[in-house]
Amino acid sequence: MNIILLGPPGAGKGTQARILVEERDMVQLSTGDMLRDAQASGSEMGKLVADVIARGDLVTDEIVIGLIREKLNAGGAAGGYIFDGFPRTLAQADALGELLIEMGQSLDHVVEMSVDDQALVARITARSTCGDCGEVYNDNTKPIPADEKCTNCGGSNFKRRADDNEDSLKTRLLAYYKQTSPLIGYYYAKGQLQSVDGLGEIEDVKASIASILG
Ligand code: AMP
Repeated sequence: MNIILLGPPGAGKGTQARILVEERDMVQLSTGDMLRDAQASGSEMGKLVADVIARGDLVTDEIVIGLIREKLNAGGAAGGYIFDGFPRTLAQADALGELLIEMGQSLDHVVEMSVDDQALVARITARSTCGDCGEVYNDNTKPIPADEKCTNCGGSNFKRRADDNEDSLKTRLLAYYKQTSPLIGYYYAKGQLQSVDGLGEIEDVKASIASILG
């Protein structure tokens, strides 16, 4: 089963993707993570996209489609793929459709996670992650434990994303509404879109997604 988690920054796509990886043996393909890895490795491409990401704009379709193509060609997803943060433009959506056809695979569900803007800003500015395993924390709802050890892996390498600040977030939200939200209509027209309320507790959102995926 291959699915897309679609939603604005802070909607909880990464958190739910991690649960699906854990419980359904799926593979999470997050273009945001791939781009941050490229930056961390100091590659030419990583340097090229650094400013764009810091501002909160989208990097080019060519780059992200290339990253996804590479991962899909590498194979190895017994339970299928979760596309997290990809596609973000109509051109990316078309490219994904073509890549899946080339691989003889299908897109089974597009799950839109909706959360109002105020909640997004609150979530993102309170967000940190474990740099070792990616576990997501929130200053208000799921703070880093007092012993400063990750509840998932025991590491103590916590990070805040450089683009999780109010200025970049405004640009990221604008990019979402201008360039990504047209995908809601695109997948609706194809009969593939289902929506969940992303505002609830992690467990409730998980249950809503499970009822869609079966
Ligand atoms: P994310 O971790 O999904 O919030 O992505 C972080 C940043 O990486 C975004 O604000 C964009 O600058 C860039 N990015 C991630 N995925 C894409 C994509 N599919 N298309 C264009 N830019 C992307």
